[in-house]
Amino acid sequence: MDLRTRVTLLSESRDRDGPAGVPARAGELSSQPGAPVGITRVTHPGHGPTRLMRVMQTNACSLSCGYCPTFCGGKVRRTYLEPEEVARVFMSAQRGGLADGLFLTSGVPGRPSKMTDRMLATVDLLRRREGFRGYVHLKLLPGAERAQVEAAVRLASRVSINLEAPGDGYVRALAREKDFGGDLLPKLELAGRLVLERRRIESPARSGAIGPTTQFVVGAAGEADREILGLVARLERQRLLHHAHFSAFQPVVGTPLEGQRATPAARELRLYQAEHLLRQYGFEYDELVFGTDGNLSLHDDPKTAWALAHPERFPIEVSRAPYEALVRVPGIGPATARSLVAARPRSVIRGSGDLRAAGVDMARAGWFLTLGGRRLAHAPRPQQLRLFAPGEHLTQAPFRTPVPPCAYR
Ligand code: SF4
Repeated sequence: MDLRTRVTLLSESRDRDGPAGVPARAGELSSQPGAPVGITRVTHPGHGPTRLMRVMQTNACSLSCGYCPTFCGGKVRRTYLEPEEVARVFMSAQRGGLADGLFLTSGVPGRPSKMTDRMLATVDLLRRREGFRGYVHLKLLPGAERAQVEAAVRLASRVSINLEAPGDGYVRALAREKDFGGDLLPKLELAGRLVLERRRIESPARSGAIGPTTQFVVGAAGEADREILGLVARLERQRLLHHAHFSAFQPVVGTPLEGQRATPAARELRLYQAEHLLRQYGFEYDELVFGTDGNLSLHDDPKTAWALAHPERFPIEVSRAPYEALVRVPGIGPATARSLVAARPRSVIRGSGDLRAAGVDMARAGWFLTLGGRRLAHAPRPQQLRLFAPGEHLTQAPFRTPVPPCAYR
């Protein structure tokens, strides 16, 4: 197989970076004559848009993750890229102005430490031989050794380790060779501590190190949102995790979990929204509202669910309320709350139009606000607050994909 064919097989051109991602224009980039494949435009919150080459070192794998098309029994063409080849293809894209950063992941053929060494060799070539100082995201493999985690944190801008699920039993149900308590969680915590240490010793600008990320495959193992978010909240509070990704489980043709029901995409969205409340809105984990099944509401977004459960906190007077109260109103985000507070000393809010112009989603916020003592909207009807109905966007049929659906998060 020639190099271009192997890179095509081992990369993905669709955007899969969660809600923060910008719709892919990779096809456009990759279709340029001679251009390398697998480059996707993504937006990193706070860092703006960037073009990432996302590639697997190999799609050969001896593990049996039930959701993954490249599991050991999967009928996919297996191939491999040498560290030298990844470095060459990436540097040619980077020097040609087509890629800004690299996202490197891999299957696990045989001993995890052997393939991890090859991934580290790839990044080492970029850093030392090529002098590339830009963004490199290295996804550490299950079973990576402690010294390899240390080397990864030294070399990469960001490392990630997929926890897959919030506990031993759940992870075993998804991937029997993966060890949550003995491998994945302690390695993620180690990576988090090492990044903190690196940032303490070097300035953030010089180190370029960003906190680790992780990913959960949601819904296939019977875990509850409460358990996922409890773990995420604890890791983020300890600053061992920068943020988490959530992938609603979708059955893939030919995989061990092919016959299992898909998880509603709305559940993935609710988890992202709840994680944002914890990380960016000042909410505590204990404040999240879960149903009796331990899951977030699919009808109401998590902030609306919290607001409806706390009628004693509302309405609030928009002309006087502090930032901390405004940011808890459904339909008002941190940037809008900040700009409302900053604008009040020099301008008068005359009505809903001004609030709308300032970025307030009045359909969601109106009922929870007063202006001059008057409520700005009638009580919300359920459909005004609903973003998704349960089951909406549900992929019922198993779908086909040559790369793991969650490989690049
Ligand atoms: S998710 Fe990763 S480790 Fe699991 S089977 Fe797929 S490629 Fe292998």
